[in-house]
Amino acid sequence: MIGVTILGSTGSVGVSTLDVLRRHRERFQVIALTAQRRIDELYAQCLEWRPSYAVVGDADGAQRLADRLRRGGDAGTEVLAGEESLCRVAALPETHYVMAAIVGAAGLLPTLAAVEAGKRVLLANKEALVVAGRLFMEAVHRHHATLLPIDSEHNAIFQCLPPGFQEGLGRGGVTRILLTGSGGPFRNTSLEQLATVTPAQACAHPNWSMGPKISVDSATMMNKGLETIEARWLFGAEPDQIRVVVHPQSIIHSLVEYADGSLLAQLSHPDMRVPIAHALAWPQRMASGVATLDLFEVGRLDFQAPDFARFPCLRLAFQALARGGTAAAVLNAANEVAVGAFLERRIRFTDIPEVVETTLERMTIQEAASLPILLESDSKARRIASEWIAAAEIR
Ligand code: NAD
Ligand code: MG
Repeated sequence: MIGVTILGSTGSVGVSTLDVLRRHRERFQVIALTAQRRIDELYAQCLEWRPSYAVVGDADGAQRLADRLRRGGDAGTEVLAGEESLCRVAALPETHYVMAAIVGAAGLLPTLAAVEAGKRVLLANKEALVVAGRLFMEAVHRHHATLLPIDSEHNAIFQCLPPGFQEGLGRGGVTRILLTGSGGPFRNTSLEQLATVTPAQACAHPNWSMGPKISVDSATMMNKGLETIEARWLFGAEPDQIRVVVHPQSIIHSLVEYADGSLLAQLSHPDMRVPIAHALAWPQRMASGVATLDLFEVGRLDFQAPDFARFPCLRLAFQALARGGTAAAVLNAANEVAVGAFLERRIRFTDIPEVVETTLERMTIQEAASLPILLESDSKARRIASEWIAAAEIR
């Protein structure tokens, strides 16, 4: 049996992961499940999967879960709390695979713990790579971890890259990576209208059903910026080797361009169970619960260049990537704070890039020499972004 820990099991990716595992119970055993808040969901998951451990963000929540488990049918689950426990269940000897599906920089340390324990890490938590790209990849190599991308674009690219791409993209004849993105719910919305969009409108993605943070990121296209940075580290691509292509149907999940003029693409229904099943079964294949595409039903595929004027977050992410050092960590932290404030209706949608840009301007960008430096930049950027938001609220 393959032991699996799911970090962020109550989220959109976490729930999709359990849906795939449910189809292959003879092969996989759930070792640990974790959640920040949704205790009811975590409780139900514990009853179904009987994991050895369940980790809740705070001690109060952990106590509530432990009480419910004691009263409502003992699943034999030990309940733990806090970030240290997340790191612990990511590194357990009986855990072979770790699904890293916590949202935001909060996922960095637990995901790194899995890497440092040499696990197969199924990486959905793109923010971990955005914050700590170089150090993260060095840890992957040093500890012989197996890093498999879950982000649908990166999973597609991984499927289209030649064997041994880690030795250098050029050696395998790869010239460019084409990262596709739907353009989100506001692909055709005017700048004027963008100022008044609501969180509900921003979260109504045309093709994907996802958690609130990544849904807003898709609407600002910051998501495609974060994914460009993610691709840079995952595949060792130079920034000018990565190109964003707007593809409204979300059928082609990304492409790889070769020196001979070939483009290789991966196509499927937009359903995260496809990349999840791919990474769980790799290098084999197994059923995901998703039907194959009917190309006659798909009919047509469209492509456009991205619009940097209406989606300034995309420009800011490219600039942070070019700048290097702690810039991407600052960009990510400011964006997390801004998206949180937008979801709470404290700022406008169009304020999100303002918060990010101002924070980047006010911070000193340093060399990303160590994890403490990155974590300090992250907290300082959060403070500055929060101050901007507090001032904007009063205005
Ligand atoms: P979500 O909000 O639905 O779920 C997040 C999970 O993380 C929940 O289980 C939550 O309890 C947990 N969590 C939140 N804050 C935490 C904290 N501070 N400490 C510990 N745990 C915490 O998010 P999601 O949409 O499932 O996305 C998860 C990650 O996967 C994100 O990084 C996202 O960018 C990436 N991703 C998601 C999708 C998708 O389709 N949803 C696609 C590609 C990549
Ligand atoms: Mg994606």
